[in-house]
Amino acid sequence: MPVKVGKYLIGETLGQGAFGKVKLGKHTETGVQYAVKIIEKKEIAANSMAANVKREISIMRQLHHPNIVNFHEVLISKASLFIVMDLVKGDELYELLRKRGHLTERDAKHIFGQLVHGVAYCHEQGIYHRDLKPENILLDATSNVKITDFGMSAMTGLVNEAGNPNALLYTACGTLYYCAPEVLSNSTTGYNGEKVDAWSCGILLYLMLVGRLPFESEDMAALTKLIQSAPVKYPKSMDPMAMDLISRLLEKDQHKRITVREARQHNWIPKPTGENGSTNAAVSSAAPSKVPPLPSAASAPAATQANM
Ligand code: ATP
Repeated sequence: MPVKVGKYLIGETLGQGAFGKVKLGKHTETGVQYAVKIIEKKEIAANSMAANVKREISIMRQLHHPNIVNFHEVLISKASLFIVMDLVKGDELYELLRKRGHLTERDAKHIFGQLVHGVAYCHEQGIYHRDLKPENILLDATSNVKITDFGMSAMTGLVNEAGNPNALLYTACGTLYYCAPEVLSNSTTGYNGEKVDAWSCGILLYLMLVGRLPFESEDMAALTKLIQSAPVKYPKSMDPMAMDLISRLLEKDQHKRITVREARQHNWIPKPTGENGSTNAAVSSAAPSKVPPLPSAASAPAATQANM
């Protein structure tokens, strides 16, 4: 039996996060379907998440871009918080990669081009996602990118874990496979949110084109070492322009690494044409190729919320 919350009938579960579920919500007057993220108040209290949730909502309210999931409203009941967003009717990038293994260069350009435009827009607003991974990149029915889950994000000036109003951040977050080397070092100098997202974009582009992660180990210490010091190995078949872009994003020295805004100007990135931020025709329906299974964020050694 669907539950009614405000003017929404809450239905099937669309996805499960660490602290809550995302369910289908149908507006009883308009019939429009939404995605509703439900977080139990007791979970918020038990995990001291009140500030994080407040920040996620405030950030989502600010962002209006064709490649970012659109926020509608928040409802609060006695026991839960309901974040109402546009429903994205397609696969996560994670699911697409699991089915296909890797993407053709054309499809990777389509998806990565939109991702870069969405992330660069966030950076222009002073917002850093800090948890870019395939599970947080949704694709609509025509494979347009919709970035979601700003639960780890940070905002210049408004939020800085060290209470410092500059752009350097001090909390390690996200998923280790996508985590920049400077976040994993024991530095007390902080790091730049823009460069951290740029690194994650580099990992994502490598993953889309190659079908596996550039740094992989189930052991947290070994993985940290690989991220910090191992060179990236590129397949011989990779397009030199794509390789150039990845190597600039996966530059271990954050000071030498390009920003996502700079990556947007790279020759490999298609210029946006359509009103959805689309860069070319939708992703093709190519047959899946055989590659090793993609490690999920759930199985990744987590780097979440370790104060540095
Ligand atoms: P995490 O543990 O990664 O922090 P979370 O609790 O913050 O997760 P989300 O990552 O926002 O939750 O969403 C969990 C899943 O729900 C997504 O991976 C996706 O499958 C689904 N989902 C989220 N938002 C939408 C949406 N707008 N439309 C359709 N499905 C969605």
